[in-house]
Amino acid sequence: MKPVRHIVIVGGGTAGWLTAGVIAAKHRARMPGGFSVTLVESPNTPIIGVGEGTWPTLRATLARMGVSETELFRQCDVSFKQGAKFARWTTGADDDAYYHPLMLPQGFQQLNLVPHWLAGKDGRSFCDAVSPQGAICEDGLAPKTMATPEYEAVANYAYHLDAGKFAPFLQKHCCETLGVRHVLADVQEVKRAENGDIASIVTPQAGEIEGDLFVDCTGFRSLLLGQALGVPFKDCSDVLFCDTALAVQVPHEHENSPIASHTISTAQSAGWIWDIGLPTRRGTGHVYSSRHISDDEAERELRTYLGPAGKDLPVRKIPIRSGHRETFWKHNCVAVGLAAGFLEPLESSAIVLIELSAKLIAEQMPVCREVMDVIASRFNATTDYRWGRIIDFLKLHYVITKREDTAFWRDNLLPETIPDRLRDLLTLWRYQSPWFHDEFDRVEEVFPPASYQYVLYGMGFHTEVEPGALTADARIAERALHENRVQTDRLRVGLPRHRDLIRRIVDHGLQAV
Ligand SMILES: Cc1cc2nc3c(=O)[nH]c(=O)nc-3n(C[C@H](O)[C@H](O)[C@H](O)COP(=O)(O)OP(=O)(O)OC[C@H]3O[C@@H](n4cnc5c(N)ncnc54)[C@H](O)[C@@H]3O)c2cc1C
Repeated sequence: MKPVRHIVIVGGGTAGWLTAGVIAAKHRARMPGGFSVTLVESPNTPIIGVGEGTWPTLRATLARMGVSETELFRQCDVSFKQGAKFARWTTGADDDAYYHPLMLPQGFQQLNLVPHWLAGKDGRSFCDAVSPQGAICEDGLAPKTMATPEYEAVANYAYHLDAGKFAPFLQKHCCETLGVRHVLADVQEVKRAENGDIASIVTPQAGEIEGDLFVDCTGFRSLLLGQALGVPFKDCSDVLFCDTALAVQVPHEHENSPIASHTISTAQSAGWIWDIGLPTRRGTGHVYSSRHISDDEAERELRTYLGPAGKDLPVRKIPIRSGHRETFWKHNCVAVGLAAGFLEPLESSAIVLIELSAKLIAEQMPVCREVMDVIASRFNATTDYRWGRIIDFLKLHYVITKREDTAFWRDNLLPETIPDRLRDLLTLWRYQSPWFHDEFDRVEEVFPPASYQYVLYGMGFHTEVEPGALTADARIAERALHENRVQTDRLRVGLPRHRDLIRRIVDHGLQAV
């Protein structure tokens, strides 16, 4: 039996440090017995430094690692994120906007409110009828108060953060508190064992580093899994067309400018612009399809969106490639983060996938090499399922649009660009709304049926309702819809302004759990 004791992570971006932290926190008790986590990071290759929108899972991930939420706010320029507002995605008109909030619809575990909302037609959007969060965001309010302890929420939330500050913040915690060994060195060679495993990595600065399990977090390079082990890349640009991003950081007008507590995503002629408010600046960028628009035209659209605030600010161009590795864990090497793949950041799905992968590796950590292939095969099945479902969900935003004003939007509607599962579900959802029966049967679905409901009905999708189907749940539904009105009114008066709460957290700190 060959025990798995030495974990070597290559790459010190968000993926590397989150994976190191999750594994080290879970296996800390084994460290005196020789279990070790080493993170090797190039001193010459910078991290990607973008990726500012997260998912609510990050709260539990950081709490499990023992990170203080107050320190996160103090050191990473953090604001709250309560969902995303999608503007101009349906018709392209000025008043075309809807929310995908992070709170589940009222009573979600008990009943599906969609048919009742459709039948009621009281003029409220789906989001406003079933959740208070759109109204909280519109009012510029925070999702909790100073009396809410660390990581707990009044309204469900994630974070917006400065990606350039987040990795060093995690690094400090991992090395000082969780016992992770940090090696600054360039991997120049990967040595293989007879059975195909990675035996060691070779660096000029720290020599040869051996390990039992290697985690590839080297970003787009995919140095270990892609290059050394030759696992092919599965391109999905035939489904998701965007292949370039232009990123620009915009200062706030003044230090008291309101901060949106949601990501704003505004559709353009051949892509969309993200707009994320941090306490000290906005992080914005244009993600677009270079097959449909030139770089110059894309930059012009971005500058028009930013107005005078964006004049003369430097723009950083980042080529992106939609898709993922054919398998994620091969031999004794598993890829996490950009090394595993990338999809346009429309729903901030990258960091949450990193968290889920890190958690799966930590929880299923093979005790010995002999069982690793069984765990790898499960990991591959689960991860492949997740990527597939995310691709479906991102494509959903493009296929129920009524926009046909440019080739980009028209091409997105071509049937051959729509994955089979999504096409079948869209047929089904004309007659019944998304629900758990639609194969959302994994323990940790990245996007539950509620997410599909918010996007579909936010974009005016029509589902036929059979009147007879409503009677059984009518009273419970009525109560839930009423409860939502009451809760919305209560929260709109009870929650503090977003910037005010962040300031108070930084100055005074939240109650530690
Ligand atoms: C435009 C854009 C917007 C995005 N927005 C979001 C978002 O809103 N939400 C979200 O969840 N995600 C987003 N992402 C994705 C997110 O940025 C990444 O998933 C995240 O930053 C993780 O990156 P990484 O750690 O995998 O790679 P990187 O940050 O690129 O880190 C790679 C690491 O590998 C190291 N390395 C490379 N070569 C070697 C070598 N030879 N030897 C040793 N070390 C080496 C580097 O030094 C570095 O430390 C976005 C991505 C892009 C491109």
